[in-house]
Amino acid sequence: MAGKPKVAFYWAASCGGCEIAVLEIREKILDLVQAVDIVFWPVAMDIKYKDVEAMEDGGIDVCFFNGAIRNTENEHMARLLRAKSRTLVAYGSCAHEGCIPGLANLSDREAIFDVVYKDTASTENGDDLVPQTRHEFAEGEVELPVFYNSVKTLGQTVPVDYFVPGCPPQADQTWAVFEAFVKGELPAPGSVIGAGEKTVCDECERVKEEKKVKEFFRIHEIIPDEKKCLLEQGIVCAGPATRSGCGGLCPMVNLPCRGCYGPPPEVVDQGAKLLSAVASVVDADTEEEARQIVSQIVDPIGTFYRFGLAASLLRRRKMK
Ligand code: SF4
Repeated sequence: MAGKPKVAFYWAASCGGCEIAVLEIREKILDLVQAVDIVFWPVAMDIKYKDVEAMEDGGIDVCFFNGAIRNTENEHMARLLRAKSRTLVAYGSCAHEGCIPGLANLSDREAIFDVVYKDTASTENGDDLVPQTRHEFAEGEVELPVFYNSVKTLGQTVPVDYFVPGCPPQADQTWAVFEAFVKGELPAPGSVIGAGEKTVCDECERVKEEKKVKEFFRIHEIIPDEKKCLLEQGIVCAGPATRSGCGGLCPMVNLPCRGCYGPPPEVVDQGAKLLSAVASVVDADTEEEARQIVSQIVDPIGTFYRFGLAASLLRRRKMK
């Protein structure tokens, strides 16, 4: 690379946490700006899309793209930044797997608009107005992005070079990725980077014994033993089905792993893997008892596919 590497950051359909995660590297941000030229970062600097359009193709060395693809604006920027970037990184769970926005794939545009613009108790919308994609005023015409029926991941939209998991990625992992990029020590394209090669269970220090569960609990229903495996205590913990790399932060503070680092290596569908792990610990003598025990798991899709529905084999609910 001649001169300082040119780096871009972009935020599509996400909560903004991944933008904050970049700042979690704290004073190292000063080292980063010494080592690279940040050429596009809408949340932090005044720059327009037309400035990106004016860049030559491949003119950005690496783009860290966070957020899922929810609408035409997200997709336009994904395609534009793909063309302008030599290396495109899906940064964070939304770009990697769809994350929480991907749970909207249990519904569709019409149903979402009904809830958001018509049916909520605090909404007064007598004319049943919903956003239009184009509107003419005396002053001119405005356009809004088209809202898709389904949330897509970045990798389902354009070719992606690397995936950094996490909701959000942890600061030490983000810094390791920046360092690897600056030093030219990235692995083969297509790799997951900024994460481990095992499961969260492997880095969790809780005592693991034989797992036999007759009752499941939500986290507000019991105070779990701080030393024992949470799954053994009837709390659905995604540790067996989640890639390591976060340091097992949630189990460390008596909360179950939620699965935000996505599936471990060799696992295609994180929800199916977690379902299998949970099913293997259910201690039932009859099918009826098994049904009764698993019926205590509230919101199964939101539990097993909280972060990965859009990237899963299921992808979305079939609507009538
Ligand atoms: Fe730790 Fe959860 Fe794995 Fe149990 S299931 S060992 S609590 S990560």
